Amino acid sequence: MRYISTRGGIKPISFKETVLMGLAEDGGLILPEKTPRVSGETLALWRKLSYPELAFEVLRLFADDIPTEDLKKLVEKAYSSFSHPEICPVIKKGNIWILELFHGPTLAFKDIALQFLGHLFEYLLLERGQKLNILGATSGDTGSAAIYGVKGRKNINIFILFPKGRVSPVQELQMTTVADENVFCLAIEGTFDDCQYIVKKIFSDLDFKKKYFLGAVNSINWARVLAQVVYYIWAYFKVSEAEGKEKVRFSVPTGNFGDIFAGYLAKQILGQGIERLVLATNENDILTRFVNEGDYSLGRVTSTISPSMDIQVASNFERYLYYLYNQEPSRVREAMEQFAQTGSLSFSQEKIARVQKDFLSASINQKETLATIASFYKETGYILDPHTAVGVAAGLKFKDERPMIALATAHPAKFPEAVKKAIGREPERPEALRGLEDKPRRVKVLPAEVEKVKEFVAKNALL
Ligand SMILES: *Cc1c(COP(=O)(O)O)cnc(C)c1O
Repeated sequence: MRYISTRGGIKPISFKETVLMGLAEDGGLILPEKTPRVSGETLALWRKLSYPELAFEVLRLFADDIPTEDLKKLVEKAYSSFSHPEICPVIKKGNIWILELFHGPTLAFKDIALQFLGHLFEYLLLERGQKLNILGATSGDTGSAAIYGVKGRKNINIFILFPKGRVSPVQELQMTTVADENVFCLAIEGTFDDCQYIVKKIFSDLDFKKKYFLGAVNSINWARVLAQVVYYIWAYFKVSEAEGKEKVRFSVPTGNFGDIFAGYLAKQILGQGIERLVLATNENDILTRFVNEGDYSLGRVTSTISPSMDIQVASNFERYLYYLYNQEPSRVREAMEQFAQTGSLSFSQEKIARVQKDFLSASINQKETLATIASFYKETGYILDPHTAVGVAAGLKFKDERPMIALATAHPAKFPEAVKKAIGREPERPEALRGLEDKPRRVKVLPAEVEKVKEFVAKNALL
């Protein structure tokens, strides 16, 4: 399998090179040259597999430059940290299926990709005799999932910046109580924007970046998208069998378009089976406007109770554009340049019609989200986190005779304040969150200054 850039400016590369490159060197995103479509015979075999076995079969189609025994071990290690025997159980609640993606160590779906990516990085670095210092900024979920993905991994250090006192208490505890010496949490005296600015500034100093082997783990890494393809196929098997139906729909709470893009790929790989994907947004509805009206224009970021979806520019959107523009890199380049200049793209009726063959979309505001948590609890006894509730609310709007599978992207105990507002009490804390308050914390407070953070990284980087 060879990989190309959406902007056409790199020569085809292998899977391993793709993982280490992250963003393509021409500024585009990396995609496989061809998406494999799997035959009915193969699907019949896949149906019987456990989650890690299925993950191995799907990944090996794309990661064909890693020896199969090695890949198998990486996958097994990645999913051994999950607390549920089925890894991603699918359960029916009322009229809808819930695909629980929060049984990993940080209780959010990002663990599914980042647990795998951590082991994969370690493997590739060892093979090449290289080191990696990961630098990132977080307003919550991604930071802890990235830390848990690489904590204790050899040849990797991780530096995560977060705005001091401005991430949720649970999320701050998850990050700062990690004891592994390769983890550095930096509480920055500033906002999340300050943290992001500092990280961008440091990455733009190419000499510094090179000298200290800096890298990122953001959601555009191809291996992250790929690991997420697996649970769509998995859930499709479970639900189509339980309901005796050949076609299903998924509803996906969406921010950076990474998760739902994985669903789009799964749809291609299966050929049939996934009828459409429901793209669910909160008040930050740029992607809903895109699907429903062909209007992709930037708004202001609104803070909501589903903070991991408070995004305007969806970093994985370019991957979908590449297919919408019939895999013509020059069209993608043009569109991205236009968007950078004007903050807006609009699409023809013909394109909108094509988009709507793959996606349905609804934007769910916070009032409706809280009302959904409350009514779902009343009707089924099941507590949704606010992100999942956005997906469930949108999913129920588009529920027809086909089964609807809503992705549960976080455990409700990560967002106790919102849940309490909706149902009058906090959800019970699962094992992974108990006793965090009593653990020693490791965190360094720094002013919001690029030079101070650089100094710290230089002193603590692996060389
Ligand atoms: C990251 C995240 C999302 C959004 O996923 P994207 O891949 O960015 O679209 C939704 N819910 C939760 C809980 C998340 O952490």
